[in-house]
Amino acid sequence: MQVFTTTQELREFIAQYKSQNPTKTIGLVPTMGALHKGHLSLIETSRAHCDCTIVSLFVNPTQFGANEDFSQYPRKKEADLHICNKAGVNVVFMPEIEQMYPLDSTLQITFNAPKAMANVLEGKTRPGHFNGVLQIVLKLFNLVRPNKAFFGQKDAQQLLIVQKMVQDLFLPIQIIPCPIVRNEEGLALSSRNAYLSANGIQQALKISASLNATTKAIMRGIKESQELKRIALEILEGLEVEYFEIVNHELQPLEQIQKDSTLILVVARVEGVRLLDNLWF
Ligand code: AMP
Repeated sequence: MQVFTTTQELREFIAQYKSQNPTKTIGLVPTMGALHKGHLSLIETSRAHCDCTIVSLFVNPTQFGANEDFSQYPRKKEADLHICNKAGVNVVFMPEIEQMYPLDSTLQITFNAPKAMANVLEGKTRPGHFNGVLQIVLKLFNLVRPNKAFFGQKDAQQLLIVQKMVQDLFLPIQIIPCPIVRNEEGLALSSRNAYLSANGIQQALKISASLNATTKAIMRGIKESQELKRIALEILEGLEVEYFEIVNHELQPLEQIQKDSTLILVVARVEGVRLLDNLWF
């Protein structure tokens, strides 16, 4: 496994790899590190699809708001490298901020994710978040020039907005969505779970339980979003629910669920930790 910390090393590797292996494919797995089994499943999927898997480990400052946990976000470089090595990753790219953002913020090109998709749900409380996501993802795409890039369905809004960028800007990259990985009890794995106490983890199980109850209600034939929301909120009682929304793939609210084009999203805080989960239906 090769580890690069500069954009120059990475670009040289990519240029050489592409010229020496013109028919081989490159898979990119962008992450912010503190890797867990959720990330690992993206890496394994990339290994199954592509000849060369590149994992980026970079806590991207431009996607964090002023009052968010950028400085506290868990950083576990040594453990991450060990996980990548064991998982058969070919290249890890772990740059310092200056490598990705060499210029003062007033001199940077910035992005405007489409408002209809970016100012709702996560974007309501995290203004500018998806602009920062698109900025770093496009930088990584341009450095790595992957054939395929792997994103978790866990961050559903991010996945849909990245897919939109690829479509709108005609990027020659295939986005592969990967299913949510959960612990044995159903809690969606997240680097932020590390902030929770044992009791917090038990409380957090209500989040996936609310989605399971929604699935069961749908199976019983309930289609109205309002009724599904009522059922879910009953289970989420006691948690600080930020939102429970039923939307289509353009992230617009649905009055009734529609098979194969519905996304049910929940965000709740447990012990002050913001936890996301969702269901693609
Ligand atoms: P992050 O490091 O949190 O930015 O996540 C990097 C990638 O891993 C994103 O595409 C996430 O959607 C994905 N990911 C994070 N947690 C999970 C999970 N529990 N299951 C599947 N993918 C995940």
